[in-house]
Amino acid sequence: MLIPQQKPLDEILGYLEGENRIFLLGCSGCADGWEAGGEQQVLRLKQELEEHGKIITGLAVVDMLCNKALTALKLAAHKGEVRAADSVLVLTDGAGVQTVAELLTKTVHPGCNTLSSGGGHAEWKEAERCVECGDCVLEYTGGICPIARCAKHLLNGPCGGSQKGSCEVDPDIPCVWQQIIDRLTRLGELDKLERLVAPKNWSVSLSAGPPVKRVSGQWAPFGEIDEDG
Ligand code: SF4
Repeated sequence: MLIPQQKPLDEILGYLEGENRIFLLGCSGCADGWEAGGEQQVLRLKQELEEHGKIITGLAVVDMLCNKALTALKLAAHKGEVRAADSVLVLTDGAGVQTVAELLTKTVHPGCNTLSSGGGHAEWKEAERCVECGDCVLEYTGGICPIARCAKHLLNGPCGGSQKGSCEVDPDIPCVWQQIIDRLTRLGELDKLERLVAPKNWSVSLSAGPPVKRVSGQWAPFGEIDEDG
């Protein structure tokens, strides 16, 4: 089980700037269990967004949003409401948001951060989808996680080493930044990459982020680097 926690309303409203019609999605799994995106929280957010002038074209709560087949069925049942929306706002963990992004050629906003549960990550089809970094960046990356899926955990674009869409570190896996660029291009949102994602606060993440090198030559997580490093 992952631990989603709803993002502050101001942050969510910032994501929705320029959009009026929103479809809301919640989850009866982890998100309901942690009171971050079950039916009650979805209905409360609906009211809050309406008070800020947004039109909610529809809402749905899926039993397990990270289950692609279940989510596809639910989205099909709400096809007209989803089509009428400018975007879909998803109240669950990073794995569930990415499931929805895989299913829709439409802007998908993350409504939650996913906190560290101390070890269990979200695996889907033998691939890690969310490493519970505590401050979800899926808003800026087309709903595809560069932390779980980029070998270098890069946040502001590709490293320049990928070849023909493959990762420089492991040519057998696709370069996730190529996938992010392709999706943002399809959505007409490539300009999202023009805004810099600030240095990340890894203290809320279990991994403490990618390692950096001490002056001594030893590798260490960001939080433990020498003062003179
Ligand atoms: S950015 Fe990635 S690792 Fe962080 S919460 Fe979102 S999906 Fe999970």
